[in-house]
Amino acid sequence: MRTGYDVIVIGAGVTGLSTAWWLAREGISVLVLDKGVVGAEASSRNGGGASHYQSPLFAEEQRLWPQMDELLGYPTEFRPERVIMAVTEKQLGHYLYIGEMCNAMGWRVDPLDAQQVRAMVPIAGDNCLGGIHLRFGGHANPQRTVQAYAWALQDHGGRIVQHCPVTAIEAPGGRARAVVTPQGRFECDALVVAAGPQIAGLLAPLGIDVPLAAARAEMIVTEPLPLMQLGGVDGNGLYGRQTLRGNLAFGGGPHEWIDTRAEGPGARPSTPLLRGLARRVAELFPRAAHCRVIRSWAGIVENTPDGRPILDRLDNVVIATMSGVGFGLSPATGHALRDLVVEETCTFTDLSKLALARFDAVAPDWREIKGWIAESSAG
Ligand SMILES: Cc1cc2nc3c(=O)[nH]c(=O)nc-3n(C[C@H](O)[C@H](O)[C@H](O)COP(=O)(O)OP(=O)(O)OC[C@H]3O[C@@H](n4cnc5c(N)ncnc54)[C@H](O)[C@@H]3O)c2cc1C
Repeated sequence: MRTGYDVIVIGAGVTGLSTAWWLAREGISVLVLDKGVVGAEASSRNGGGASHYQSPLFAEEQRLWPQMDELLGYPTEFRPERVIMAVTEKQLGHYLYIGEMCNAMGWRVDPLDAQQVRAMVPIAGDNCLGGIHLRFGGHANPQRTVQAYAWALQDHGGRIVQHCPVTAIEAPGGRARAVVTPQGRFECDALVVAAGPQIAGLLAPLGIDVPLAAARAEMIVTEPLPLMQLGGVDGNGLYGRQTLRGNLAFGGGPHEWIDTRAEGPGARPSTPLLRGLARRVAELFPRAAHCRVIRSWAGIVENTPDGRPILDRLDNVVIATMSGVGFGLSPATGHALRDLVVEETCTFTDLSKLALARFDAVAPDWREIKGWIAESSAG
């Protein structure tokens, strides 16, 4: 088995896979290691939304998504545009404000009255007060997308080893040389750490402190309904999409704080928040309230103190943790991390807002201050 690579990537979620794909397609030898199987954590469990207008990676996210099926050579089921619909006056005011903000940034949003929403979203009810139509963004199928990244990466000669947890990073003087796993030691010239909620534990022995609080987020899936004009519909605190088969796949807060440190690296999500989620989906779509929920799952979202991702390079170690926006941003994140590995800087946007150093002065008890603590560890 080959043991030396130009780049090793820890984590086969969308972030690690996209980065590895960007590297492999230009002939760089890359090895992706995952403690489990490809995309089995948040990357295949999310809402599939791709409309992150507040991110410095947004323009690149929007440029890339419509091309991804062709670039990867496999389907992601990407569908453009979204509707956000309101069932309270407060929500309507907030969504109209989002629309004005996006228009001011140059991203077109059209206001919709209740009748226009119902024409686009026939399962909306009489309680719908209106909404907005995002002429950008969209959604894709998370399972198909992780699969597409993994296949495309391997088509370019990249290698993925599953069930291979990295137990230590050898980095004398802060420069990564190798990683240690139960399947052996692998050497590299550069290391990308994209290990989701586990990134903090992996980097702590290197003296790198990544402030994260983990939360359990839930999704439910209904039996299929006739296909709507736009599959991407948000509102009532929910995000989601209609699958190509017609199922409604929806998630949304409240989320539940968990302690991945206490639960260990094998922390498994469960689904205690399901009932509230189903109730709010029925409120949002009264004409689908009769549908049965046929599946549900939970995933873990790691949150930084300001809720934004961290993308940074520290010597030859590139780190990425995505908070709740990693799926949609993944084509652009992979490009940015490829740039950090190869060029040592991002060539297409300013990443300074996503640097780790912005948390240098964060209070040690920031989780307690924010109330972002697991009930079990709240004392
Ligand atoms: C319910 C839910 C809904 C969401 N909805 C959206 C949405 O609509 N739009 C959006 O953009 N984002 C959404 N997100 C967030 C998004 O899913 C994540 O930001 C994204 O998947 C993060 O990808 P990642 O590759 O960085 O991390 P992960 O998917 O967590 O992958 C990290 C990988 O690292 C591996 N790993 C960890 N430790 C080790 C180790 N020691 N050795 C080897 N491998 C290791 C893990 O096994 C895992 O496969 C949602 C998340 C959830 C849970």
